[in-house]
Amino acid sequence: MTSEPTTASSSVPTSRLPERAAVVDLDAIRHNIGVLRKVAEPARVMAVVKADGYGHGAVPVARAALEAGASWLGVAHISEALGLRAAGIDAPILAWLHTPDSNFSAAVAAGIDLGCSGWELERIVAAAREQERPARVHLKIDTGLGRNGATPDRWDSLVGEAVEHQDEGLLRVVGVFSHLAVADEPSRPETDTQLGAFREAIALAEDAGCDLEVRHIANSPAIFSRPDAHFDLVRAGVSVYGLSPFEEQSSADLGLRPAMTVRATLSQVKRVPDRQGVSYGLLYRTRGASTLGLVPLGYADGVPRTSEAGPVRIAGETYPVVGRVAMDQIVVDLGPGADPDALAGAEAVLFGSGDDGGPTADDWARAAGTINYEIVTRISPRVPRVYIGEGA
Ligand SMILES: *Cc1c(COP(=O)(O)O)cnc(C)c1O
Repeated sequence: MTSEPTTASSSVPTSRLPERAAVVDLDAIRHNIGVLRKVAEPARVMAVVKADGYGHGAVPVARAALEAGASWLGVAHISEALGLRAAGIDAPILAWLHTPDSNFSAAVAAGIDLGCSGWELERIVAAAREQERPARVHLKIDTGLGRNGATPDRWDSLVGEAVEHQDEGLLRVVGVFSHLAVADEPSRPETDTQLGAFREAIALAEDAGCDLEVRHIANSPAIFSRPDAHFDLVRAGVSVYGLSPFEEQSSADLGLRPAMTVRATLSQVKRVPDRQGVSYGLLYRTRGASTLGLVPLGYADGVPRTSEAGPVRIAGETYPVVGRVAMDQIVVDLGPGADPDALAGAEAVLFGSGDDGGPTADDWARAAGTINYEIVTRISPRVPRVYIGEGA
């Protein structure tokens, strides 16, 4: 798995990109799956492609991940899983977040595995009856996160009810799973407690007659920090996209390559006088005559309005955003020495692989007081996705 680092600008001539684009490197996705497989083996890898593949595009990412040896796909909603099936993807898919309005029948018909916390069980069984096809179910235990999953006091009865339906031929309990709360902070003790509760839940299900294909609890941080959490399958999300789940470790530290580059062509570059105010509220004023660069990306494109001094790379230099982020645009102060003619139509990169010393989603997360997960998932549909790498 040693492929050349690739940047958007070196792989696709800028002139062939749309004026605003989120460039997604499918070779980086494949590389990251290779890293994850190595770290997780002998456990297999589920590529989590919820939220449109963390903003990267669920279908192209899913295809690249499967090509690179991911065995499963994971999504939150049944609707997301149906989208993958509609695109012709027939790999195992698990969907785990439902409401009483979720279309369990469509899921069973499409052969989608369903997470089940308890309340869904009778609805899933009804869907299996209607479709005359046994549902494939992963029972979820809440080992401490306090979101979905059965609480431990309800586990015994949930397993009992599921096994009864399994004996009737209406479903198969193929998995037991849970989700970790603090795996990104490896020194915290709660992960041990969660793993203990998970092992107990598995033992109870197996004793009750569940012949489990997969037991799974690890998310990206646990894949790297807790080998004892790997079990049969790991659910990799943010790491598939080349981003680190840890505050203190970068993508490069983990051997991962960020897959998304968000960039645009500069809209205008102009000279302005001393004390020129910039953007709504005039919160920034130039100190001395200067040159302003206008980048046609704003909060409607997913640039956080609350960010401060987010970095933008132009012609090999990184500049902070000055003034407020507007709906459609941001401004950088290029300084008195910048040549408006030379920079007209230049490429502005908000974040990318970081290979060239340019800004990353981690830098934007710091500028916005959030996490890299949010930076990539919030890039809006107004920014066209462009795929590079083999098979793009
Ligand atoms: C989103 C999600 C994941 C992936 O988490 P990452 O930290 O992005 O790896 C795994 N499991 C569940 C249940 C999730 O909701």
